[in-house]
Amino acid sequence: MKKENCYFDAVPKVVPADRETTVTIAPLYDHVRFDANKSEAQGRRASCPTYELSYYPVEEFSARSADAEALRAAGWRLDAPRIPFEIVDGTIQIRLYFEGEQEHVLFLEEISEKGRKTLGDFRLYSLEPDLFARTPYKGDFHQHSFRSDGMESPGYIASASRGIGLDFMAVTDHRRYAPSIEAQRAFDGVDIDLHIFRGEEIHPPDSHVHMVNFGARFSINELFADEPAYRAQVAGIISRLGTLPPGVDPYLYASCVWCFDKIREGGGLGVFCHPYWFTAHRYSPAGALTTYLLETQPFDALELIGGYHLNEIDSNTLQVARYHEERAKGRAIPIVGSSDSHGVERGEFFTWYYSIVFAPSSALDDLADSVKALYSVAVEALPNQIARPFGPFRLVKYALFLMREVFPQHDELCKEEGRLMLEHLAGNTHAAAALTELKGRTAALMNRYWL
Ligand SMILES: [Zn+2]
Ligand SMILES: [Zn+2]
Repeated sequence: MKKENCYFDAVPKVVPADRETTVTIAPLYDHVRFDANKSEAQGRRASCPTYELSYYPVEEFSARSADAEALRAAGWRLDAPRIPFEIVDGTIQIRLYFEGEQEHVLFLEEISEKGRKTLGDFRLYSLEPDLFARTPYKGDFHQHSFRSDGMESPGYIASASRGIGLDFMAVTDHRRYAPSIEAQRAFDGVDIDLHIFRGEEIHPPDSHVHMVNFGARFSINELFADEPAYRAQVAGIISRLGTLPPGVDPYLYASCVWCFDKIREGGGLGVFCHPYWFTAHRYSPAGALTTYLLETQPFDALELIGGYHLNEIDSNTLQVARYHEERAKGRAIPIVGSSDSHGVERGEFFTWYYSIVFAPSSALDDLADSVKALYSVAVEALPNQIARPFGPFRLVKYALFLMREVFPQHDELCKEEGRLMLEHLAGNTHAAAALTELKGRTAALMNRYWL
């Protein structure tokens, strides 16, 4: 966490673009005490510190702004970063016009006889209305429990997911939908802020294409039990496909179409998983099938960043490069980032990859619709490296701000909730009541940070 965000409470952090907003910087501890009298005594009592505040919009500031005259009248010099402020009840208050969608720096210094000292580099982000109306939710669309080839119970994975700051998740075991329900049931009657959704990883008969069903009301894998019905319906799809590009297997492609249609029928989000997974000496599926899937997009979202070992990171690099190339061709490609974790205590995958979805709420429909409307980024957060979001430029820029200025505080609150969820699973009868006490804390934090 940035030290400014430990020592001070600076709010709001996210504000509407092209409007004036009052920002308050309040010291939380005794490290500094803003004193109005000292400020007025500038020049008379040299021993008292004074303060200087400089303002920098990181991208642009147009003196042609409609409000330029109002800013000048308020004492601004549009060609100089130093800005006026007031000290009110021990806090610094600034009224500012935040132009356009961009990040803003408020650089606060203390000047005393000892010299100039930086108190903080405070950041804000101004947003256009569509993004301002959305809350960023962290989540994982793809994880495995010991019901398939993972290491822990579905409830354990849900608890650990909250513990690392996720707002939503689903257990998506290979060929099994029931474990995702088990994760929900583990917290029946317990007030938690983690949204646990249903899901599964789908493996159709005779297909090596992996798909994730995120959130559908029923299992797709279970439909394969009636294999003749599945085969007949896929045959129907094949008959309507027309001529396919060379190298595209009609059955494999039609099977994907069938699965993604079924996921949508169940109200879920269909994810095309790890297209550049290198397995058995080749990419799977890759080749002509991946190209055709990207061209026709029967899926709802592409797993842009997937769960790969460190020696397999090439696969994510390829997926990102491919995504950008497809985008350059004018294709809109919804994306998610998933850990594909096979054990939260395994020391890999879990925490390395996740998604940020900008949505009106963390309800299933809002998350799925927002992903489909391209309001998401996929994050790679490898050990000992600075985390990197991938996706639309506008969202990547905003996500970088959130990952530095907002999520560290959000995640700190989640840590305690995740620990209590684990204690509840371990039989601590006081944990549920303690979770009820904490309910709504992360939402309240976000509300405080948003104007
Ligand atoms: Zn898979
Ligand atoms: Zn998987």
